[in-house]
Amino acid sequence: MTTETYVETSKTLSDLRQGIASGRVKAVDLANRYYARIEQLNPRLNVFLSLTKERALKQAAKVDATAAKGDPLGPLAGVPVGIKDVLVMRGAPATAGSRILKGYHPPYDATAVARLEAAGAVLLGKLNCDEFAMGSSNENSAYGPVRNPVDPERVPGGSSGGSAAAVAANMAVASLGTDTGGSIRQPASFCGVVGVLPTYGRVSRYGLIAFASSLDRIGPFAGNVRDAATLLGVIAGHDPCDATSSPAPVADYAAESDEGAEGLRIGVPAEYFAEGLDPEVRERIESGIEALKAAGCTIKPISLPHTRYAIPTYYVVATAEASANLARFDGVRYGYRSSSSATLSDMYSHSRDEGFGAEVKRRIMLGTYALSAGYYDAYYLKAQKVRRLLAEEFLRAFADVDAIVTPTAPTPAFKIGEKADDPLAMYLADIYTVTASLAGICGVNVPCGATKAGLPVGMQVLAAHFQEGTAFRVARAVEAAQI
Ligand code: GLN
Repeated sequence: MTTETYVETSKTLSDLRQGIASGRVKAVDLANRYYARIEQLNPRLNVFLSLTKERALKQAAKVDATAAKGDPLGPLAGVPVGIKDVLVMRGAPATAGSRILKGYHPPYDATAVARLEAAGAVLLGKLNCDEFAMGSSNENSAYGPVRNPVDPERVPGGSSGGSAAAVAANMAVASLGTDTGGSIRQPASFCGVVGVLPTYGRVSRYGLIAFASSLDRIGPFAGNVRDAATLLGVIAGHDPCDATSSPAPVADYAAESDEGAEGLRIGVPAEYFAEGLDPEVRERIESGIEALKAAGCTIKPISLPHTRYAIPTYYVVATAEASANLARFDGVRYGYRSSSSATLSDMYSHSRDEGFGAEVKRRIMLGTYALSAGYYDAYYLKAQKVRRLLAEEFLRAFADVDAIVTPTAPTPAFKIGEKADDPLAMYLADIYTVTASLAGICGVNVPCGATKAGLPVGMQVLAAHFQEGTAFRVARAVEAAQI
């Protein structure tokens, strides 16, 4: 395979690695070709917010030199990757999709970013997202919406809309996103790509601009399940810079994903197939379940009755943590400062008023209310108790099944503007994803066919804590069925 055929047919990471090792694919040419595609498509799709060309080409040259010498190559040698703009990269602008961080150039790399580069990846630039990762459509970015490459009148999902769209439009081979309540899985589903929610603690959050620290996770997007598994293996593992990162050993996820799904017990929770689910999405997911049966899985109907409390619980916990995390943006330490202030206190409030968008302000107010004296017990404490019940319910379910499958989102990608003025309708887009976020378990979105109009449908495969390998095995079986 040559550089040109690689870009045009967008083959797998192992094809690319072979091409680079043999010298037929040059990492520098590949990076330049991806930059040419970005230049061509970005004005329309608004996927990248900034490019890190100098760093990318330097790394690509290093990979080519290593290959020319016949020295061992990293598992991601030469792979062009995009990074969601809530993860920091040394010297590159970090906006988090917000005006308030305008002009901020962090002095260090996020651990996940550094690990990608150490494995040979070529970091193309920073990807658009909802402001501070708050949203389900990428319409909350201060830098304009991302358009879905499948249908540019539609949203790519959010908040990692740029990360999903970059892979779907082949503007990067893979990308990193973050998921607090669904922000990797839902956009992956809307754009027809694979997205991984690792177990909480599996991937270091060092260098992630925090939204809700007890829920935030970093995970990969890729064009197929095996590549996503390879990427997770690279970024996972303990990091002394993040005390919540787990010392549990990192499995060879790609090899595990090769093991097949035969014999696995799959739970199908009734609550995820109830009112509000688009009939075409239901049909495709049911075909996916049939494919799992054909692959030798046992299908078991299960019930997760606490699901109905997940959205209110998530929107108390996440907003409470956001109100605390976002207090640091005051016009002094980072980015934007209002110029229209006579006093110090005016400077704080004007900077925050002018710097934050409407959804972020709504969440800071909701979260501050939920934490305030007199309301803390009724809202925050109660939500924490419900969160525990939700997690226990999943643990009980995983005593009987190896994985749980559901639709990732109740509908396919919706039109830009369709839900923009209705926060509640937007929050309901997360109805099937926030449960796993609250429980800390892992999951994968795997493409599972399309609607008659050609819009991608995604299946969510959930597995117990640190059982990513099981989720990958199930996802591979669905992928192989080509629904
Ligand atoms: N859509 C959800 C929200 O707006 C989830 C976002 C996320 O996972 N970062 O909070």
